[in-house]
Amino acid sequence: MRKNILIVGAGFSGAVIGRELAEDGHNVRIIDSRAHIAGNCYSERDEKTNVMIHTYGPHIFHTDNEEVWNYISSHCEMMPYVNRVKATVNGQVFSLPINLHTINQFFKTTCNPEEAKKLIESKGDATILDPKTFEDQALRFVGKELYESFFKGYTIKQWGMEPKELPASILKRLPIRFNYDDNYFNHKYQGMPKEGYTPIVESILNHENITVELNTDYNPQEKENYDHVFYSGQLDGYFGYSLGRLGYRTLDFDKFTVEGDYQGCAVMNYCEVDVPYTRITEHKYFAPWEKHDSTVCYKEFSRSCTEKDIPYYPIRQMGEMTLLGKYLDSAEKEQNITFIGRLGTYRYLDMDVTIAEALDVVRAYRLSVQENTVMPNFVVNPR
Ligand code: FAD
Ligand code: UDP
Repeated sequence: MRKNILIVGAGFSGAVIGRELAEDGHNVRIIDSRAHIAGNCYSERDEKTNVMIHTYGPHIFHTDNEEVWNYISSHCEMMPYVNRVKATVNGQVFSLPINLHTINQFFKTTCNPEEAKKLIESKGDATILDPKTFEDQALRFVGKELYESFFKGYTIKQWGMEPKELPASILKRLPIRFNYDDNYFNHKYQGMPKEGYTPIVESILNHENITVELNTDYNPQEKENYDHVFYSGQLDGYFGYSLGRLGYRTLDFDKFTVEGDYQGCAVMNYCEVDVPYTRITEHKYFAPWEKHDSTVCYKEFSRSCTEKDIPYYPIRQMGEMTLLGKYLDSAEKEQNITFIGRLGTYRYLDMDVTIAEALDVVRAYRLSVQENTVMPNFVVNPR
């Protein structure tokens, strides 16, 4: 039976769910409070230079999930792209993630992989048996010198707190390699869409059963007009922040344009705490197949998110998790609504995970329609 569906948010979460349900013959209305589609993945050409800009910060597509890779590739031309990150520390430039080149340069050695492994093992603090914090994880596996040079200052700037207050899981995202592989990611597939991310979402949304309305905020009174709502806005926002705000970090971007090249690479991290920004990204290097005479860079500053800012990184510390629990208790009592995506579930989600979860949400919805059962409020448990 044809259902009336409202989707809040035209980012990847909302767009993928909308498209799949439109394909099933449902009537889908998608609203977004912003003036554009594609959420935080929005990209556009810079007017002055024609460089493709990732407006809300650089986005690199990487995944191990073949279904997701095939899905996104069917909506764009993916160009080969490998993310290689550099770091400026102690007046020198190093390669990240920490690899054999970083180790040999940092310790002024000429180690082969086995020797480097032994060297790093000798630096690690073996008395830390079960590292729970970011700091312990770093001290255990890379040792004090590398930790203090590459991770401590950057992490304090990025998260606004000491690494001993943060979970080990944040550092576990970064590999350490005992070879010269400087690919920032370990995934099987990696690429950059030839014309940026916005046309991908445009293509996903291009279906006769979908209407999109921009500059439109969710109005709770409209809910009863729909069979089901998929909500990718802030979970606490849905409840009018009545119990308080879930903590986020936000980013300020200092955008500047210069002639020629600025730094010669896409991403340069600044790991020292005295440098106020975390990194500079040079966006033309995200599209190495293009040629541009001038260049556009973003200097990235991280800080605590206030009511007026765009929420980027969920903090998910003890206090936030307690508050999250309360909002989830309320959310689970709501009817005919599913909370989705990075804001609706208060988790940091890469694009590939976002798309994979959106496809799972669709499968769950199809099943609930088929079997006439209740569609869950959450398809993944955000606790
Ligand atoms: P969003 O993109 O945030 O979309 C949600 C939409 O809902 C927004 O457009 C918003 O305007 C709208 N909305 C919210 N509330 C309302 C409301 N009340 N009414 C109407 N509309 C509303 N992922 C990667 O895979 N690779 C990367 O390199 C990468 N880099 C990143 C860099 C940064 C700085 C950040 C913050 C994220 C990065 N990500 C990256 C993650 C990526 O941005 C997310 O996976 C993706 O944006 C999640 O999509 P979404 O649809 O869930 O959320
Ligand atoms: N990190 C660091 N130094 C670096 C890069 C990363 O200390 O030069 C830490 C930082 O705490 C960051 C985490 O490692 O949050 C994960 O890095 P990633 O590049 O995945 O960060 P994100 O993509 O979240 O910005």
